[in-house]
Amino acid sequence: MSVLIVGSTALDSIKTPKAENPRLLGGSASHAAVAASFFSPVQLVGVVGDDFPKKYLQLYRRHGIDLAGLQIKPGKTFHWSGEYEVNLNNRRTLLTELGVFETFSPVLPKAYQAAPYVLLANIAPALQHHVLNQMRRPKFVVADTMDLWLNIALDDLVKLLKRIDGFVLNDSEAHQLTREDNVFAALKQIHKMGPKYVIIKKGSHGSILSGPKGFFICPAYPLPKVVDPTGAGDSFVGGMMGYLASAPGAIDNNLRRAMIHGSVVASFCCEGFGLNRTTKVTRARLAQRVKELEQLTRF
Ligand code: AMP
Repeated sequence: MSVLIVGSTALDSIKTPKAENPRLLGGSASHAAVAASFFSPVQLVGVVGDDFPKKYLQLYRRHGIDLAGLQIKPGKTFHWSGEYEVNLNNRRTLLTELGVFETFSPVLPKAYQAAPYVLLANIAPALQHHVLNQMRRPKFVVADTMDLWLNIALDDLVKLLKRIDGFVLNDSEAHQLTREDNVFAALKQIHKMGPKYVIIKKGSHGSILSGPKGFFICPAYPLPKVVDPTGAGDSFVGGMMGYLASAPGAIDNNLRRAMIHGSVVASFCCEGFGLNRTTKVTRARLAQRVKELEQLTRF
């Protein structure tokens, strides 16, 4: 089954203590779509400007990503720039040029409206609502977010939580939303806001799921060297949704395994700048890391 993914499609300029890489393919939807494409057909909804390099369109196509929902508008592609500190955990945004993203209104082609799996990747909550308004009874809807929307669009985000099945956020965002220091108390509070499944990401410490079957502690793959963690969260949730859409049976029976697959795709994302490493991964390499994680956590 296919996964519909809406989010940002961007050019990212990324600076780490070791290197600087301008205008890489980035954006929440790009990372999530490539990650999901390892497991399922993907329908992408986003916007780019007429400056968007053709090679990036070709890259999407190489991953079999359906681009009927990608608008190409006169103007500049959304450009984001970030700089990491030495430990690669702390990041600050240097620049956000919205370009064509400023007036973006997602329009779903007819063929997308019946997509069973929907990932509302990081984008303004009003746009996430707008996509849901165009959908016919999706089977499973997951949303991601970022601190910016908690700061400037909290009402829209809180309303969105009542319309989705799963919500994915990182630990600092969970704290910002609930004012809880304890992650398990935060999970409980977020359930009360609507979603049946809540996943809190903890960067290189993995993630925690809370759902009808209880908690699941999902490890991050142990990487000795991180090159660029940009998009790891998007790769995690994209890989998870792609796996879910490919797995027969109930969501509850597949979600833990789906998270492990998301975690493995995210590990490859961290090993290169932008999507450089992720796009070179093979299914066999993914399967090998899934097996390693299985062995690492069995006792
Ligand atoms: P992550 O590392 O998972 O937080 O995601 C990084 C991605 O988020 C980058 O590829 C950026 O292009 C994208 N991004 C940064 N700021 C925004 C924003 N305001 N809205 C949507 N996407 C953004």
